[in-house]
Amino acid sequence: MKANKWFQRSLPLASLQRAPELSRYAYIAVFSLIVVACSEGSNSMAKKNINIDQLLNQTNLNSKSWPWNGVADGMRKKWNGLIPVKTNGIARAETALDRIEVKIGRKIFDRQSIAALDTAQIKRGIIVTEGTAVEPKMNDNTCGNVGRAPKEYDYPRNFVDNKTGVIDTVLYVNLGSDFCDDRKKGETESDIAVHEFGHALGLGPHFEGFGIGPIISDAFWSVLVKLYNDE
Ligand SMILES: [Zn+2]
Repeated sequence: MKANKWFQRSLPLASLQRAPELSRYAYIAVFSLIVVACSEGSNSMAKKNINIDQLLNQTNLNSKSWPWNGVADGMRKKWNGLIPVKTNGIARAETALDRIEVKIGRKIFDRQSIAALDTAQIKRGIIVTEGTAVEPKMNDNTCGNVGRAPKEYDYPRNFVDNKTGVIDTVLYVNLGSDFCDDRKKGETESDIAVHEFGHALGLGPHFEGFGIGPIISDAFWSVLVKLYNDE
């Protein structure tokens, strides 16, 4: 999770509050604009569908950037079958799994098989740890990351199969650091956890609605659901 600037997006409203000289007609004009914007139903839905395809391409299919770096270019990169998860009893991680399964509409996680194993014995799956988030320059936005180990941001070598795009590895979801309490970011305590699971499930570079602007958003959910539910 890099710099989160979603609150900057509320600037227009903030400016309104800071401008007492604005007449009530100006307020009415602004709210009329909002109503017009909301009534574009079918058009914006069509636009949205195109965008979801583009976003999926940008963050997953296209392998130009991190963490894909050229591997399985043009392919869907995702886990196959149930994904073993060891949450270490971290409540917001459990909540994140629930939220993801509700959106995808089916069980995609296996929460039992590795839950009691020592991490050294785990050969495949996602392990959650807290207080272990890192990035090259630590700051108050160092709230979560995914990597090959606690306090690592590199991914394991060969974590995705170049021929099939299947992710088969051990990934750590690192939640929170000395610089950031991830539970206090976002709209709920589990938003950062959901975001990081998004990376671990196959979303690479951030996009508008996923780390650029909001931590997670409708666009994020649509891309994740499309990745796991379309062939
Ligand atoms: Zn991120």
